[in-house]
Amino acid sequence: MNRPGLVQGKKALVVGVASERSLAWAVAQALAREGADLAFSYQGERLGERVRALASEVGSTVVEPCDVSRDEDIDALARAIAGRWDRLDILVHAVAFAPREALAGGFTGNTDREAFRLAHDVSAYSLVGLVRALRPLLAAAAGSVVTLSYLGAERALPNYNVMGPAKASLEASVRFLAFDLGPEGIRVNAVSAGPVKTLAAAGIPGFRRMLDHVQRTAPLRRSITAEEVANAALFLLSGLASGVSGETLYVDAGYHIVGMAFEDPPSGSG
Ligand code: NAP
Repeated sequence: MNRPGLVQGKKALVVGVASERSLAWAVAQALAREGADLAFSYQGERLGERVRALASEVGSTVVEPCDVSRDEDIDALARAIAGRWDRLDILVHAVAFAPREALAGGFTGNTDREAFRLAHDVSAYSLVGLVRALRPLLAAAAGSVVTLSYLGAERALPNYNVMGPAKASLEASVRFLAFDLGPEGIRVNAVSAGPVKTLAAAGIPGFRRMLDHVQRTAPLRRSITAEEVANAALFLLSGLASGVSGETLYVDAGYHIVGMAFEDPPSGSG
């Protein structure tokens, strides 16, 4: 028996596809598989062609430029979406940035005012800015918003540095948006993903070691896949999660619940 897709006929905007490895692309594929109509945005002409090619794989021709650090770009994106659709059921926000120099060495020494401003602007404010601009369309659909976060929002760890406070701001923004927009029927949630090799991840020095560490110490003794992140996002974006808002859902093979783990358990220690 053919069942309707989990997001059949829903209108979805996906912000943050840079390559076929992007977590946003995995989410887009899951949404397409479950019947959504997709629109994409990209930053800079360099990426335009690549994102248009990926969009066509999921039957989408709606591909708009948007540098999320520019209000005029966000407004233009919202106008472009409003020109095509009278509602927006789904917004996927998968964007983050910090200057490369800030993502290495000591947090204190490498976090200057500009790095802090930029990281928070692109990685956290952009969610608020997009939701502000798209609010009428989201309200018309009682829409659902998902953003992508990381454990650095809550715990200190090597090299992630200023992205940690930026993700903390992102997760707090999720709660405040959920609180504010709940009366309009809009739900806002985050998926906190374990490490997955993407372009953004490759910018974090020691990423391979992070991945190895997770594989040795997470309860599931492995890292996670982009598809697992996408399926959790799909759940939050679908009617299955109609009672869930303001939540951060971990998709990290259980890593965040560990207080201490011996990386190489002695044999017979069971
Ligand atoms: P990705 O493929 O490199 O995606 C990051 C996206 O952010 C890119 O499309 C990038 O575009 C975009 N971006 C950066 N600055 C922008 C701006 N000013 N305007 C518009 N777009 C901008 O990497 P990803 O790992 O999938 O990252 C997606 C999200 O997942 C991020 O929020 C990241 O922090 C989060 N996350 C990733 C992991 C992981 O291990 N990969 C784990 C947890 C959370 P450009 O390429 O043009 O800069």
